[in-house]
Amino acid sequence: MTVIASVDRSLDGTDPVLAGLIGEEFERQSGTISLIPSENYVSRAVLEAVGSVFTNKYSEGYAGRRYYEGQQVVDRLEPLAIERAKQLFGVEHANVQPYSGSPANLAIYLAYLEPGDTVMGMSLPMGGHLTHGWNVSLTGKWFRSVSYGVNRDTGRVELDEVRALARRERPKLIFCGGTAIPRAIEFAAFAEIAREVDAILVADIAHIAGLIAGGVHASPVGHAEVVSTTTHKTLRGPRGAILMCAADHASAIDRAVFPGLQGGPHNNTTAAIAVALEEARRPEFAGYARQVVANAKALAAALTGRGFDLVSGGTDNHLILIDLTNKQVSGKIAAKALDRARITTNYNTVPFDPRKPFDPSGMRLGTPAATTRGMTEPEMRQIARWIDEGIEAAKRQDETTIERIASEIRELTSGFPIPGGPA
Ligand SMILES: *Cc1c(COP(=O)(O)O)cnc(C)c1O
Repeated sequence: MTVIASVDRSLDGTDPVLAGLIGEEFERQSGTISLIPSENYVSRAVLEAVGSVFTNKYSEGYAGRRYYEGQQVVDRLEPLAIERAKQLFGVEHANVQPYSGSPANLAIYLAYLEPGDTVMGMSLPMGGHLTHGWNVSLTGKWFRSVSYGVNRDTGRVELDEVRALARRERPKLIFCGGTAIPRAIEFAAFAEIAREVDAILVADIAHIAGLIAGGVHASPVGHAEVVSTTTHKTLRGPRGAILMCAADHASAIDRAVFPGLQGGPHNNTTAAIAVALEEARRPEFAGYARQVVANAKALAAALTGRGFDLVSGGTDNHLILIDLTNKQVSGKIAAKALDRARITTNYNTVPFDPRKPFDPSGMRLGTPAATTRGMTEPEMRQIARWIDEGIEAAKRQDETTIERIASEIRELTSGFPIPGGPA
């Protein structure tokens, strides 16, 4: 057998074990409802681009300034992705090379801070991200980190508290945004605070980028010096990230990403990001973004109607954080029971959580993935019913009810197919 023949076999032929796993994962995704707010289903077009021959190419550097030859096509691809990001978000500069959201944020530290400098972000258990200075993260170990949270009564960020902390601690970098924030981020107010203390404001829009692109959340552009986003959450692209800024920050950001932090960009990811940005520009995408929020509001209302206690009392975006304390069940028990019932969520700390992070009081839900499948308000009300029944069943160890819900969900999901199945 020639070498060529051996690399030209299909996955099925080369590695049936792995092909089988992909098939099983497709079935799992098809037959369950993902309410994990950071997940989504990419289009077939995005999947094709991720799996394209761009994965073969090394391209350290930037267009026109590469360290490898053979960039005739990549040097058209990357500027296309950049141009689309600039258009979609209305920014002067974009870097599409960060491997994911965490390295994108690390590049920002490298661009603006020295080890030991002060960074301020939302604390992880209050809804921030690890990379905003949390203690187990490099960003909390190598930098001096101070954190703000939310108000105990309102469940919302208290800007006076943020301002007071910033004045006292004089951070060089301030992060706004996070991973478990059900309310709109007040970019203008954060910018005012950052200006007062001469800090650089970073808006981390990883969760809400698709909502901003779709016009249902305010944009940080013009307020934050740097905007960081993943591309795989509400934006519905491949796993990757984009850093955006005004022209005067462009070279600091670009140098930090390469050669500061990374080597060669993942060109296949860049290709898929370009596809996702093209999709996000279209009117259907704005419709999707509106429905993501409408679905979250419908789900929140239905859950509230069933006696669930939502942090901040509801949602402005795609995300709902339930405090399960009044239901006398832990987040982990609830999430694991719902997983058996074919609803995928994640257990999560709630602000001021008295329980441990590995078995916290809350559960985090989001509507982007279900919305991409075409689910709307009636399905959200049905999902709230299943969540309620599933959690009550878990409390009395009633696996029969959980199995009944699982089979009902199998039935429902068959009417909402996901892209990427066997051709
Ligand atoms: C998801 C997320 C990240 C990190 O993204 P990864 O791609 O998982 O590294 C960073 N910041 C926020 C706010 C996020 O939600």
